[in-house]
Amino acid sequence: MSLKLDGKNLSLKIEEILKNDIICRQNTIKRPPGLAVIRIGDDPASGVYIKNKEKACERVGIKSHIFHLNETSNYSEVRDLIIKLNTDKNIDGILLQLPIPNQFDAQKLISNINPDKDVDGLNEKNIGKLVKNEDAMRSCTPAGIINLLKSEDIEIEGKNIVVIGRSLLVGKPLSLMLLNLNGTVTMTHSKTKNLDKICKKADILISAAGKPHLIDSSFVKDGAVIIDVGIHRLKSSNNSKTRLCGDVLLDDVIPKVSAYTPVPGGVGPMTVTMLLVNTIFSWQKQFGLSSTLKDLLP
Ligand code: NAP
Repeated sequence: MSLKLDGKNLSLKIEEILKNDIICRQNTIKRPPGLAVIRIGDDPASGVYIKNKEKACERVGIKSHIFHLNETSNYSEVRDLIIKLNTDKNIDGILLQLPIPNQFDAQKLISNINPDKDVDGLNEKNIGKLVKNEDAMRSCTPAGIINLLKSEDIEIEGKNIVVIGRSLLVGKPLSLMLLNLNGTVTMTHSKTKNLDKICKKADILISAAGKPHLIDSSFVKDGAVIIDVGIHRLKSSNNSKTRLCGDVLLDDVIPKVSAYTPVPGGVGPMTVTMLLVNTIFSWQKQFGLSSTLKDLLP
């Protein structure tokens, strides 16, 4: 019987810790943690993700501030907003919601975020610290995946781990975090040859390719752990309904694996929760308070 790695359940448990942390410290700090989310344009999926983040902030007591800029905004407008938020005393975290319209260079914009408020962990300074295995804000989706594995005592050290995808948002930081935890990591991408054979050697297989149902049971070793980062909205055959699925053909894979993440309810909720963790961590740090939340950051 394979184990479902229930990200929704774990995120609710972590939220309880975060809520109590804010309540306990508010007498000292006198204001709630503040998260600024910058949205550019009208990508509908981003709209849904931002709503989820707003609701999650509300549940734990973080004040969220949404800045919705027009699709036609230019680089200086977005940079100026970031610079203003960098010195705003009520803002502890700044997140640029990705993807952004093609005319922008996301990394160039993220470089302007104060590294101490970079709650997505994507600023060069934080990525550099990850490379050096030093404490820093960690990217939310990879950090969420590691917490999910740790929560079920799934060992990383010494395991063969295959990561599909090398994006700056997921694949690269995740591979580095796993390496820092002594996993033996193979990174793969769209130009990788014999992907199925490489995946079949994995004790832990993580797919962040963004390709619906790319992975079926022929990619998976018996007893492996499979983590599905992909999120896709597929239309039913008569186009009347949509449903969410991941990169993994779960029904085919579940009988073979020892543990798996569902879509929805696996990695997605953990991504949002790690954003809350990073924001509260930054809030505490700004006021010189030591944090037990550090344990939640890989
Ligand atoms: P991305 O920037 O498009 O990167 C996709 C990566 O997958 C690229 O490195 C690409 O290779 C590789 N790839 C694409 N097709 C492949 C194939 N057939 N075989 C092997 N590798 C392949 O996407 P992303 O931002 O990393 O996100 C990936 C997926 O995760 C998306 O579905 C996204 O919606 C989802 N996501 C989910 C969460 C969550 O919270 N659950 C968070 C973030 C993202 P190249 O580099 O060679 O192009």
